[in-house]
Amino acid sequence: MIRGTTRVCGVWGWPVKHSASPAMHNAAFAELGLDIAYVPFSVAPEQLQAAVAGVRALDLLGINVTVPHKERVPEFLEKLTDRAARLGAVNTLFWDGDTLCGDSTDGPGFLAALNQAEFTITPGMQAVVLGAGGSARAVVDALVQSGVRVIVANRTIERAQELVDSFGAREAIALTEDALRPALKTAQLLVNTTSIGMHPHESECPPVPIDALHPRLFVSDLIYNPAQTRLLALAQAQGCRTQNGIEMLVQQGALAFTRWTGKPAPTEIMRRTVEQLRGKTDTIQRTL
Ligand code: NAP
Repeated sequence: MIRGTTRVCGVWGWPVKHSASPAMHNAAFAELGLDIAYVPFSVAPEQLQAAVAGVRALDLLGINVTVPHKERVPEFLEKLTDRAARLGAVNTLFWDGDTLCGDSTDGPGFLAALNQAEFTITPGMQAVVLGAGGSARAVVDALVQSGVRVIVANRTIERAQELVDSFGAREAIALTEDALRPALKTAQLLVNTTSIGMHPHESECPPVPIDALHPRLFVSDLIYNPAQTRLLALAQAQGCRTQNGIEMLVQQGALAFTRWTGKPAPTEIMRRTVEQLRGKTDTIQRTL
């Protein structure tokens, strides 16, 4: 119930109506009996600076930021975490005393999801990341910071090279079967950060040489709608362990939850809420 004491947080997007975050976070607050409400805010790009001022004016507890604001919001904030500064992107606003700060929880959320699947990252391990967009930046940064040797494969190779140069990944290659085959041979982790295979294009699959998918390879697809992409189905048939994007969605939200409340997030209820929502609607297409 909303009371005089209720604190407010929420998510900014444009559009924002497909966001899974309000349901996920409100379920988490209810589970712990916290007097906090989480609402979607449809923020037009030209209103972003005013929205940041509104966080202070309205004494909001915290904000998640999603497409298309993640890369623009840092310029309006007082302080960024080192990670957000490296990425030039923010998905979580939080207060450090009286200072409004920005962090990006996508990278640590990705690592926490792998951990949840009992896939252990070790320094020197080799990973192949498909894609060079916003989520790829967070994933590549998190892996490189963990000592992983990362090869980035992208349709537009210049974008892959930019990631390699910015984050210290090993190599940029084309997103083609021929280029991927030797890279996959020695890799222990393959991550799809492209939107290929996402609803409503479930029949599509990144151009991965299926015969190069070996049982020592863990395959992570950041897509969570559908729950099983064509890539994951093919990888499973080759004997690979796999994970879809639901756990990363939950874990990046859990990290924001803890930033705002100081409490461990009830991830089980968050996971269940996202899965139920995904079962009910085919319209969730983006993160947060
Ligand atoms: P983005 O910034 O738009 O990047 C999209 C990437 O996909 C680019 O590398 C793009 O290549 C590539 N791509 C798109 N269509 C392609 C095609 N037909 N052929 C080859 N490459 C193609 O998107 P994003 O924000 O990184 O999101 C990507 C996916 O990750 C989405 O499905 C999103 O829902 C998911 N995601 C999930 C989570 C989670 O928590 N689970 C978090 C973030 C994102 P070019 O550079 O050549 O255009």
